[in-house]
Amino acid sequence: SLLIGVGGCVAQKERDALTERFPYLDIVFGPNAVPDIVTLVRRAECGERPVVATPEDGPAPRSDQALRNGQARIQAWVSVMRGCDNYCSYCVVPYVRGPQRSKDPIEVAREVQKLAAEGVVEITLLGQNVNSYGQDLPEKTTFARLLESLNDIPGISRIRFTTSHPKDFSRDLIRAIRDLSRVCEHVHLPVQSGSTRILALMNRGYSAEQYVERVAALRDLVPGVGLTTDVIVGFPGETEEDFEQTRLLLERVQFDGAYIFKYSVRSGTAAARLDGRVTRPAIADRHKELLEFQKRISLARLKDMIGTTQSVLPEKADERRPGHVTGRTRGHRVASIPGDASLVGREITISVDRLDGWTLIGTPSHTRKDS
Ligand code: SF4
Repeated sequence: SLLIGVGGCVAQKERDALTERFPYLDIVFGPNAVPDIVTLVRRAECGERPVVATPEDGPAPRSDQALRNGQARIQAWVSVMRGCDNYCSYCVVPYVRGPQRSKDPIEVAREVQKLAAEGVVEITLLGQNVNSYGQDLPEKTTFARLLESLNDIPGISRIRFTTSHPKDFSRDLIRAIRDLSRVCEHVHLPVQSGSTRILALMNRGYSAEQYVERVAALRDLVPGVGLTTDVIVGFPGETEEDFEQTRLLLERVQFDGAYIFKYSVRSGTAAARLDGRVTRPAIADRHKELLEFQKRISLARLKDMIGTTQSVLPEKADERRPGHVTGRTRGHRVASIPGDASLVGREITISVDRLDGWTLIGTPSHTRKDS
């Protein structure tokens, strides 16, 4: 039977309002209850209504089955920290998940070793703001050092991470991406707006110019790095001029991809008290315009990859292209190559022949057995 659940930070914060307003909800769970999701579903299946699980705190998230990228056993997520101290004015995370707490680097390494022993070859380190990792530990450390300590774990051929905060995106980290062989050349660096005025209202801690400078430093040291971002349109007070600055920033930076979000109020946040709400139709128009604008850029950048050599990690059979396997380049673009399941989990060097929709189609030029 169909179960309807709502999960995440807002679910945690708005638990009572949600169950009252939507009495047909079966499950409401907060971030700390994610590892218990199987039990919660079972309780709902046994007739409990609604199943509410919003513990204030929980055991440090493990890289266990519940957090693993379902079908692809070669990949796993590893939580390296919880909480956030940034208080971006639109976000509920600091209120719900509390202050930043980094996991001990030795514990992270142990988890990664365990995953490697289970056959995982690609890990993605997770945190609200991985760039400030380690600053809260009794023995301070940095995210760049954490990456360094994980780089030589046998069996792991790729290390990814998300999410980066531009204000903490350091030169050390850029050098780590350049120098550490397992760390993939892809950065998801949410800009949120191209208007410095709006960025200040968002309490992001950087100007549009500083953001562009950081990207230039990254591209300078890591040419060809994959760069993606998040943008919020319709933040309170966003004028047509502010919006135009965001459009100009996208044009200037030339991201490989961008998630464009419509601003929506999160009660209890500083932004919820700001004047100058943008109307829904205006937000919808800006969202549509920016999506289309970025789509053209993303496609042009993908086309630029035709003729290049890329390293691909096949993840599974390509359902749309029989006789092919699909995976991602180190820069996080989707690629498809001829081959069967025996290629899954082995990094392969390919030359990119053409594009099919948003997928790079390539021919293997060299197969490297993972160390
Ligand atoms: Fe929220 Fe991310 Fe800002 Fe932290 S850094 S407050 S999680 S948007």
